[in-house]
Amino acid sequence: MTSGATAGAGGRSPSGRAPVLAVGETLIDLIVADGAAGLEAAGAFASRPGGAPANVAVALARLGVPSAFLGVVGEDPFGRRLRSTLAAEGVDTSRLRGTAEADTSLAFAWKDARGDGHFRLLRLADRLLSGADVEAAGIPSVAAVVVGSVALAAEPSRQAVQAAVALASDSGVPVCFDANLRPTLWPDLAAARLACEPVIERATLLKLSLDDARALLGVGDDLVAALGAMRALPPRIAVLTDGARGSWFVADGVVRHVPAFPVQAVEPTGAGDAFTGALVARLVARGWTAPEEADLRYAAVAGALATTRPGAMDGLPTAAEVDACLAGG
Ligand code: ADP
Repeated sequence: MTSGATAGAGGRSPSGRAPVLAVGETLIDLIVADGAAGLEAAGAFASRPGGAPANVAVALARLGVPSAFLGVVGEDPFGRRLRSTLAAEGVDTSRLRGTAEADTSLAFAWKDARGDGHFRLLRLADRLLSGADVEAAGIPSVAAVVVGSVALAAEPSRQAVQAAVALASDSGVPVCFDANLRPTLWPDLAAARLACEPVIERATLLKLSLDDARALLGVGDDLVAALGAMRALPPRIAVLTDGARGSWFVADGVVRHVPAFPVQAVEPTGAGDAFTGALVARLVARGWTAPEEADLRYAAVAGALATTRPGAMDGLPTAAEVDACLAGG
């Protein structure tokens, strides 16, 4: 049994502008909060709304771009919390389905003794995204579709996301693929590559972190090789990000480096989602022509600001905050 209004989805936002549709997982992040080195020793967790595509939807809304989310949560307290959080942020939740067949998905996050971050995802309700959900989502009339690799890791959400991407690209709707690869979800990297391939084929914008590029392109630590491989891929616009080292853009065959905006980082979570949301916001505004220096700086500032506050969604900056930083140099 399911609930949640998907019927009639696909309308315009109250502003009259078509929304950017983020497709995939929204879940509760359970973050080790007592400083324990590792999940084995953890005694306390902070719970926060998350899931990369949902974070991008919130990033867009905060930047003043109408956004909507397509995914599945459980009919449980965490599912209700995610629905109300997204709605309070101004994200259109009419395509967020509630199910009694599974609980809301969870993600554990912790740091090891060396301070390196780790994730463990428990995919539950989000995995149930179906072809019927995609068909009811009004994809041909959205402004763009944003997807990631987590939903590609198991059925039926894999086929649902691949169908959403095919429908968008056949309808002339730009597709952004922000990989966010989580290796623990896959039997091996070859399986991940195979599932991501048809999405990359159809994407207008490809965003990879250096870790994503290592895993999906098999380029080791060689940045030049990663950029060369990205240049050869179908997406017209490709971006490689590497935290405080900044980002590299490939557009129309030309590679440009964009330095990171210097900030006092507190927590890196959400930087990539803020960056992707901001870049999509600028590309929507410019009709998906190749980004210019100002667009790239805008995304870099959004990513940097997201690191200055804890939380994936909580830390995402508003348009006024990004503009203030840019105005201040
Ligand atoms: P992801 O979260 O996908 O791994 P990154 O950590 O590479 O993404 O961050 C995306 C972008 O956000 C970077 O290219 C950079 O512009 C900005 N950013 C991330 N971390 C920092 C930081 N510590 N200081 C300044 N900017 C940052």
